[in-house]
Amino acid sequence: MTSETPESFATELRCIDCGMAAPLGYRLQCSFCGGLLELAYDETALARRGPGVLAGTGLWRYAPVLPIADPAHRVTLGEGRTPLLECPALARHLGVRRLRVKFEGPNPTGTVKDRSSTTAVAAALQFGFTATSVVSSGNAGSSIAAYSARAGLRSLIFAYEKASAPKLLHMAATATDLVIYQGVYDDLITLWDRLVEDRLFFDCGASRNAYKHEGKKTIAYEIAEQMGWRVPDVVVAPVAVGETFIAAHRGFSEMERLGWIARRPLMVAAQATRANAVASAWRENRPLQPLRIGYTVAEGLAAGNPGRKGEWVLRILRETSGVAGDAEDEEILRAQALLARAEGIWAGPTGVAALAVLQRLLAEKAVDPDASICVIVSETGLKTEAPPPSRQGIAFDEESLRRLVRERLGIGG
Ligand SMILES: *Cc1c(COP(=O)(O)O)cnc(C)c1O
Ligand SMILES: [Zn+2]
Repeated sequence: MTSETPESFATELRCIDCGMAAPLGYRLQCSFCGGLLELAYDETALARRGPGVLAGTGLWRYAPVLPIADPAHRVTLGEGRTPLLECPALARHLGVRRLRVKFEGPNPTGTVKDRSSTTAVAAALQFGFTATSVVSSGNAGSSIAAYSARAGLRSLIFAYEKASAPKLLHMAATATDLVIYQGVYDDLITLWDRLVEDRLFFDCGASRNAYKHEGKKTIAYEIAEQMGWRVPDVVVAPVAVGETFIAAHRGFSEMERLGWIARRPLMVAAQATRANAVASAWRENRPLQPLRIGYTVAEGLAAGNPGRKGEWVLRILRETSGVAGDAEDEEILRAQALLARAEGIWAGPTGVAALAVLQRLLAEKAVDPDASICVIVSETGLKTEAPPPSRQGIAFDEESLRRLVRERLGIGG
């Protein structure tokens, strides 16, 4: 094996509830207690090799800590290696010492979903499936369809009728089979989860598949590597079902155990108020209760029933003294405009929900402004739509153009 194709150090699957181990394979739950499974690695070997075991660029640079053994299965569209942006103007505005944004917009389909789609589709190839499927509010659908196309697999994408036009166009262009469904996202997820049992297609949903989940772990590895194997004090991550949050936490914990970083960051879980099952359970210190939810501008966070992954997020928050919060749609849209104006980062509402939640938690003094903070901004603004802004000046010939420019710049004459 050359240094450009690092091996995978994955060893087995392990139940997050009872600890029972299972051999690597396409398994969605513990055969003993029904709990969710997570991947385990040869950490002794990884600790000995150190970060030097990583090679190549992009997401597959982290192949040693991912579960895809054969490099031929590592389907890629150039995901990962997204920028970690210093945001001094935004930090001043928020009154915090140090703020960074991990901006996921530059991924191939514009969202953090590409990190898990690449490992999901790679796993579909690894286990010999010829079709993938997912139920989506738009981002997962376009991402899974794109990676499936890239891998030559059939994709059955169930997309929410209220998905934005850019997302629907993207899905229609990349999916082999696009089905637009009406009604409530959570209901369809429940029905679709039953179909998964028939093994007609590879499960590319967010609720159970450990192989899919694992790709998002790379966001933690990238943040650490981009900071020279240090980490921020606080990482704010969006939570719908919890894949991104759990995977980021898994990544940081793994690096801490391997001795690659000295300590883990404090994790903050960010939700939309209109879909805040996890945040409200955390605040009220009670078990997770599914919510019946309507529309939120943070379309990608519209999960009323985060299920067992939501419980896993709660467990992490409680065991690590983490923090959870939520933000109203209006606050999310204000954060979107602020991020665009202050730093030039154009993100969609789902993507900036974490920033809006950080603003609230700072106001409530639930997050320390002297900490170094990293916000995961999880999607581009180019896949959502809104009414076009009204024209703010008219120029139709050289003279009117000159007058307009001088006026705007405050130059007389
Ligand atoms: C899906 C999604 C999330 C978070 O979803 P999880 O299931 O909690 O990982 C965050 N941001 C964007 C843009 C998404 O599409
Ligand atoms: Zn178990």
